[in-house]
Amino acid sequence: MDYKEHIAIVQDWPKEGITFKDITPLMDNGPAFKAAVDEIVEYAKEKEVDIIVGPEARGFIVGCPVSYALEIGFAPVRKEGKLPRETIKVDYGLEYGKDVLTLHKDAIKPGQRVLIVDDLLATGGTIEATIDLVEQLGGEVAGCAFLIELTYLDGRKKLGDNDVLTLMQY
Ligand code: 5GP
Repeated sequence: MDYKEHIAIVQDWPKEGITFKDITPLMDNGPAFKAAVDEIVEYAKEKEVDIIVGPEARGFIVGCPVSYALEIGFAPVRKEGKLPRETIKVDYGLEYGKDVLTLHKDAIKPGQRVLIVDDLLATGGTIEATIDLVEQLGGEVAGCAFLIELTYLDGRKKLGDNDVLTLMQY
């Protein structure tokens, strides 16, 4: 499936110099969105994962249908102040900006195999921080899956030995 025909390229958004890859046309195309999610579901089966973890907000959009299909849980990673119960946290740097990410302290049980899912791998900062959160709780990162990889930003370098699936590369 050629997913790229469903990605809109938006110049200078959210800031000048950023070429944003907009996944909403893919989300709007039922068969294409299902095919993309199904590829990640197959990858999650191969990796025998127990739980999906996804950062806000587009990690929810891609990760939740994977957890639904596999009848396993989904744990949201959110910016500071958004999760209602006790959290752990990590500082991270974005392609545009800096922030703190949090995860509920009881979201993952030690030894659980975790698939981290997000829409796009850019510099890798978000996923590096998410891996840190998962490992703080004793989770085992079984793999990381993305719709899109911006290969020129070399985000994989930050993910170390972790296995990575990406469906589109720019
Ligand atoms: P990173 O931390 O790898 O530099 O940035 C990835 C995060 O920023 C992801 O959570 C992703 O949603 C968001 N992001 C950065 N650039 C883009 C983009 O061009 N398109 C989309 N859809 N998300 C982006």
